[in-house]
Amino acid sequence: MAQAIVDIKGLKKSFGENVVLKNIDFSVQPSQVVVIIGPSGSGKSTFLRCMNGLETAEGGTVVVSGHPVVENGRMMPEAKLDEMRAEVGMVFQSFNLFPHLTVLDNITLAPTCLRGVPRKAAEEQGMRLLKKVGLDHKAKVYPGTLSGGQKQRVAIARALAMEPKVMLFDEPTSALDPELVGEVLQVMKDLAAEGMTMLIVTHEMGFAREVADVVVVMDHGSIVEAGAPADIFTAPKEARTRSFLQTML
Ligand code: ADP
Ligand code: MG
Repeated sequence: MAQAIVDIKGLKKSFGENVVLKNIDFSVQPSQVVVIIGPSGSGKSTFLRCMNGLETAEGGTVVVSGHPVVENGRMMPEAKLDEMRAEVGMVFQSFNLFPHLTVLDNITLAPTCLRGVPRKAAEEQGMRLLKKVGLDHKAKVYPGTLSGGQKQRVAIARALAMEPKVMLFDEPTSALDPELVGEVLQVMKDLAAEGMTMLIVTHEMGFAREVADVVVVMDHGSIVEAGAPADIFTAPKEARTRSFLQTML
C-alpha cells in the first residue's frame, strides 16, 4: 500500500474532564474519500480539527501530508503547523467568506498574500476554479449577494486555490436549504473523481454511500467501525452503528 497521506496513532483529546477523542488510530491513503458519520457530540469536528492543528491534542501522533502535527502528544510549533496548513484545505458549515471582498478576491487572497503568487496568475487560477464550481459569472460580486449553495461553492474554490493535498469538510451542507445541497455535493463528487484526498463529516447518507471509499462511524470519541459503504450501510457489525443509522432514516 502507498504511504498514508494522513496517519494518526493513539490520538487523545480532552476538553477539561470531557474526554472527546479516545486513542484514535486511523490512516488515509492518497486519493481516498473518507466520510465520517456519527451522532452529534461524538467528536467528529474535533477529530477533523486535530488533523490541521486547530485543536491541541494531548496524546498520540498525527502526520498530515508528511508534516508532523502532533508527535507523541506534543503539538508542533505554529511555524511548522503553517507549513502543513498550506497543504490542507478546510471547508466549514458556515462558509466564512470575507464579506468585504469580491468573490474573486476571496479566492486570490491566500495565494497572493501567503504564497506570493502574482495577482494576474492568481486571478487566472481563481477564474479557472470559479468555472470549475460553476460560478465564473459571479467573480465580481460580493458574497452577500450569493445563495448559501453558491457561497459554499466559492468557499471550496477558495480552499482549492492553495492547491491542497488534502481537503477537510465539516458538515459543508448542513446550513443549506435542502434544494441547495445537491449543487455543493456535486462539486465534491467532481473533486473526488479527480482524485482529491478528502475527509468529509456529513449527514448525507446517499452521498456517503455513493462517493466514500471508507465510511468511519464515530461515537463517544471512538471509531466504532470503519469500512466500505456497502458493508457499513447494509451489514454493519456494531450495534452502535445500527442504532445510529436507524436515526438517519
Ligand atoms: P461532533 O462534531 O461529532 O458533533 P464535537 O467534536 O463538536 O462533536 O464535540 C465533541 C465533544 O467535545 C462534545 O462533548 C462537545 O461539547 C465538546 N467540545 C467541542 N468543542 C469544545 C470546546 N471548544 N470546548 C469545550 N468542549 C468542546
Ligand atoms: Mg461537528
